[in-house]
Amino acid sequence: ATPTAVMVATGKGASQGVLIKGGNALEKAHKVNTVVFDKTGTLTIGRPAVVSAMLFPEFSMEELCDMTVAAEVNSEHPMAKAVLDHAKKLRQKHGSPPEHVPDVVDFEVHPGAGVGGKVGDRRVLVGNKRLMRSFNVPMGPEIENRIAETEQLARTCVLVAIDGRVAGAFAVTDPVKPEAERVVSYLHSMGISSIMVTGDNWATATAIAKQVGIQKVFAETDPLGKADKIKDLQSKGATVAMVGDGINDSPALVAADVGMAIGAGTDVAIEAADIVLIKNNLEDVITAIDLSRKTIYRIR
Ligand code: ADP
Ligand code: MG
Repeated sequence: ATPTAVMVATGKGASQGVLIKGGNALEKAHKVNTVVFDKTGTLTIGRPAVVSAMLFPEFSMEELCDMTVAAEVNSEHPMAKAVLDHAKKLRQKHGSPPEHVPDVVDFEVHPGAGVGGKVGDRRVLVGNKRLMRSFNVPMGPEIENRIAETEQLARTCVLVAIDGRVAGAFAVTDPVKPEAERVVSYLHSMGISSIMVTGDNWATATAIAKQVGIQKVFAETDPLGKADKIKDLQSKGATVAMVGDGINDSPALVAADVGMAIGAGTDVAIEAADIVLIKNNLEDVITAIDLSRKTIYRIR
C-alpha cells in the first residue's frame, strides 16, 4: 500500500477506536489466518468474582481470610482483586476488624501462577495448582475432587496454602464477553481459525473455550510459553494475530505477526502491541483485519 493509503486507513481505524501503530502492522494484518486469544480479560469480561469459599480441615475461616488478604493486597492480578474483596468481607463477618490486616513480608509474584510471602512466622501461597505443585504442597483426593468440580463449571479455583498445606480455596467466575462467540464464528467464516492460550488450568480453559466455540486450547502456559505457542504456529506457516490484555501476554504480543491489545489492558500490553482496540470490543479484531484487507486489495 502507498503511504497515503496507509495514512487514510490508520485514520479510519482511529476514528473507529482501532489504533494502528504504523504501516507495518496494517500491511501484515491482511494475511492473518490464525487469531490467538488470551482468556482472562480478553475472551472473558475480566471482572472476576468469587462465588464460593471452601475451607479445608484443621484451618479456620479467620486464618484463611487473614492470610489471603495479606498476600493478595499486593497483587495487581484481576483474580487477586476478586479474592481480596471476598476474603475481606468474610473476615468482617467473622469479627475481624477491617483495620487489622496482617502484614506480609518477602512478598513474591509468580507470574501466571500466584503470589506468596510470609505473615508473621507463617508462609502463605495464593494461586493455582501449578503454584502449589512447584512448592510441593500436597493435594489429597478430596481437595483434587473439589477443584475438579469447580473447574467443570468454568470456574477457576484459587488455592490458599498455609505453611505448606492447602487451607482453603475460592471459586472464581469470570463470564465470557457477549460478543466473543459471534466474533469467533465470524472469523471462521473469513477463513481464520481461533485458538485460546491461557495461564489458567486446562479444565476451566476448556469449559470457557466451549462457550465461545474455540476448539483449540493451550492452557497452563506461562508468559514465555504463550510466545512459544505463537512461534510454533508461525513455524507451521500460520500468520498469527495475538489478542491479549495482560503483562503476561506481552511476549506473545511481540512474537505475533500482529499483536492486538485490549484498550483496558495493562500499559505493558498496550506498548507491546501493534494495534490497540480502544473500545475493548472483540468485534474490532475483525475491524482491524478488514481494514487491512481493504487497504491492501484497494477496495473501498
Ligand atoms: P490468563 O492467561 O488467563 O490471563 P494468568 O497467566 O495471568 O491468566 O494467570 C494464570 C492463573 O494463575 C490464573 O488463572 C490464576 O489461577 C493464577 N494466578 C495468577 N496470579 C494470581 C494471584 N495474584 N492470585 C491468585 N491466583 C493467581
Ligand atoms: Mg489476560
